[in-house]
Amino acid sequence: MHDDRLVRTQQALRSQGLDALLVGPSADLRYLVGYHALPLERLTLLVVPVDGEPILVAPELEAARVRESGADRFADPRTYGERDDPVRLVVDHLRACGAASHLAVQDRLWASFTLALQAALPDARWEPGSQVMRELRLHKTGDEIEALRAVGAAIDEVHAQVPSLLRPGRTEAEVGRDLHELILQDHDEVNFVIVASGPNGASPHHETGDRSLQDGDAIVVDIGGTRDGYCSDMTRNYVVGHAPEGYPELHAVLEEAQDLAVAAVRPGVTAASIDAAARDHITAAGFGEHFIHRTGHGIGVEEHEEPWIVGGNEQPLAPGMAFSVEPGIYIPDRYGARIEDIVVVTDDGVERLNLRPRGIVAGG
Ligand code: ZN
Ligand code: ZN
Ligand code: ZN
Repeated sequence: MHDDRLVRTQQALRSQGLDALLVGPSADLRYLVGYHALPLERLTLLVVPVDGEPILVAPELEAARVRESGADRFADPRTYGERDDPVRLVVDHLRACGAASHLAVQDRLWASFTLALQAALPDARWEPGSQVMRELRLHKTGDEIEALRAVGAAIDEVHAQVPSLLRPGRTEAEVGRDLHELILQDHDEVNFVIVASGPNGASPHHETGDRSLQDGDAIVVDIGGTRDGYCSDMTRNYVVGHAPEGYPELHAVLEEAQDLAVAAVRPGVTAASIDAAARDHITAAGFGEHFIHRTGHGIGVEEHEEPWIVGGNEQPLAPGMAFSVEPGIYIPDRYGARIEDIVVVTDDGVERLNLRPRGIVAGG
């Protein structure tokens, strides 16, 4: 899957008049060469010159992990010992490629490394690496969409098992531990587990706590993990016993809002218009002040990436963009609800990657 990504990176460098891209441990590094580098105080840096051979500078003690990742198929590993200067390796390669004057550096490279590189190349001009990576990451290829579809199906399966975990007396943390194991059945990693019961549901990023589930609770379950390098992220709302007063009505509004937003997705419309489709409906129903976050975020090798589905983002949607549609309504001290599916923009519309029913599900 990584085969042509460095070639496309070099094309992006060329079209922007840049000499090279420097990438430290990050989602960009995983995206480009499949290497999960540890964020160490020792420098790990992928160097992609516009013309010339990509190299991966890494500490000698990480050489085995580099080989296991298969990254050496894409970039020549240049390992260094404890007494060597890795910045020298980077600079020598850039100079050998005639690529040392206009550089892009990955946005989240630690300042300690960026400053050392800048000190070693005092005449170079520097740009944020996102300028190079943005377009590549934003437009998913067929293989990437297939990976997102597979991880979407995997998290659908976990949600199918949630009702059996929800019983009065169990704590959010107990349910969360079960979910952790269920996610790992068909994911490589758990990224987050949110089990927000009763009033905790009114806090969108409440994870889990010691609160015990009670009859009459609404429960927001938002879970995600990584499978073959791509992320899932999906939210449904459950109740134990009777739904609390007003909740079914609130949830019906939310379901309609989520449907309207998904139905609005197609090439050419703006990200902002998808947010508006959900928000206008929720506002018209009188819950506008309780929808306190954007409608969604892009997803891929990271849980949260571009495009941001938010008011003011005039980015036009295009085929291959993948993002969440997750409106929520949060009533302080009472309950909350959020419905979240991942969708991908197709040539003429939208495909949902999460297919479980979206209504309130009874637990127990
Ligand atoms: Zn979030
Ligand atoms: Zn989520
Ligand atoms: Zn999300």
